[in-house]
Amino acid sequence: MTMGPAPAQIMSQGRSLVFIGLGANLGDLTQTLSQALARLAALPETRLQAVSGIYRSAPVEADGPDYLNAVACLETALAPLDLLDHLQSLELAHGRARPFFNAPRTLDLDLLLYGEQQLQTERLTVPHPRLQQRAFVLLPLLELAPDLAVPGLGSLQRFLPAVADQAIARLDAALSTA
Ligand code: AMP
Repeated sequence: MTMGPAPAQIMSQGRSLVFIGLGANLGDLTQTLSQALARLAALPETRLQAVSGIYRSAPVEADGPDYLNAVACLETALAPLDLLDHLQSLELAHGRARPFFNAPRTLDLDLLLYGEQQLQTERLTVPHPRLQQRAFVLLPLLELAPDLAVPGLGSLQRFLPAVADQAIARLDAALSTA
């Protein structure tokens, strides 16, 4: 993964830079995302490096209310599957149920990138297989790392034209871990 100006380091002292996509479309969306961000920042062996602005997006391939989305960058020593376990626990703690495909969700956490790693297991595919198709991922990700290049995909900037027709707006608000 080639980074833009910030954050600059991919890995230091056995830690990897990872990017997490956060989304919610049920309940108090800003509060849910702020709480999720605080919980991500409090994960073991993990430090919050940066968080994007908040984006409002229409659901993709689904009905229901608009989503709020953001992307967080963490530095972590957690292994990829351990990190996924934590993300899924946080989703459950926010009462997420999966009654049907693409059902509305209180909290959705996706492991978008884990350093330079490419993984394909039953539970985890990294880089996230649809990250370049979704404006609500691409825009906040490129806000954090404008020159980001991803294993298997190359520069993410080149995917922007393909998502230009997706309804999305950056809000005049910020998430905090407070
Ligand atoms: P979703 O309902 O879209 O959040 O998908 C959740 C399912 O995708 C879970 O069964 C995960 O094990 C699986 N999954 C595969 N790769 C990833 C990833 N990179 N991030 C989050 N979930 C993943």
